[in-house]
Amino acid sequence: MKNSTAPKLMAKDIAKRFGNFTALHDVDAVAFPGRITAFVGPNGAGKTTLFHIFSGNLRPDQGSVLLDGRDITGMPPWKTARLGIGKLFQDVRVFENMTVLENILVGVHDRMKSGLLASIIHTNSQQKEEKEAREEAMKLLAFVGLDKDADRLATELPYGKQRKLEIARAMATKPKLILLDEPAAGMNDSETAALTELIRNIREKFGITIVLIEHDMQLVMSLCDRVMVVNFGKKLAEGVPDEVQNNPQVIEAYLGKEDDN
Ligand code: ADP
Ligand code: MG
Repeated sequence: MKNSTAPKLMAKDIAKRFGNFTALHDVDAVAFPGRITAFVGPNGAGKTTLFHIFSGNLRPDQGSVLLDGRDITGMPPWKTARLGIGKLFQDVRVFENMTVLENILVGVHDRMKSGLLASIIHTNSQQKEEKEAREEAMKLLAFVGLDKDADRLATELPYGKQRKLEIARAMATKPKLILLDEPAAGMNDSETAALTELIRNIREKFGITIVLIEHDMQLVMSLCDRVMVVNFGKKLAEGVPDEVQNNPQVIEAYLGKEDDN
């Protein structure tokens, strides 16, 4: 990886406290454009807290977050979304009572001029836009392998497919960066393999920068260009997967956790 490239996302000296408890201590983090970067660590390490600080759901007590060099610290999530940060939360959040296609259309309309409401009222130019939106949504569904499920209710889909739907919806907003918080949690092996392949395709076909928050080391090692390990709210190690995997402190952090179970 060329580290001379300017980072897509950078966090400097981030601290976050919840009352007397410090969830993140002076954390620096970086994600390079067009790369898959993972933030890994045992449960409770502070990964989701970091995710929410990137997305704007949480404001850090100290430090800053930069997107393409622009300070976005504490910006509300709708604003970071408009600047090109797409996100998938740890829990699946498809829109209920909507079909698979309608779920995607919400993402497409977020970006388009007239919006969802205007498209219901139907003027001529809006009809044209509506047609384009549907075509675009169907292309995205095909990309994630859900085109045949377009007219099903989103909540009828099995878990792995709901995740794919969320990914397609995030992509409909044409993000520069996608943040994923433990996307493989609760998935079986074949769902995880399909997800891995999909994330790889997103990088290869769209060049979107991917930030993956994950506790599953196997997934991370096979997929990521760069890994940062967090433990107890502190950075433990950082580098290419091979390097990090063999770091004694990282091994201990993970084995220590297994001993607890
Ligand atoms: P991870 O995603 O790595 O499992 P989290 O970022 O969710 O970890 O949590 C890190 C630590 O911060 C945990 O000890 C958790 O209990 C604590 N924490 C997270 N969010 C809050 C909150 N809103 N209030 C109090 N403590 C929190
Ligand atoms: Mg978490």
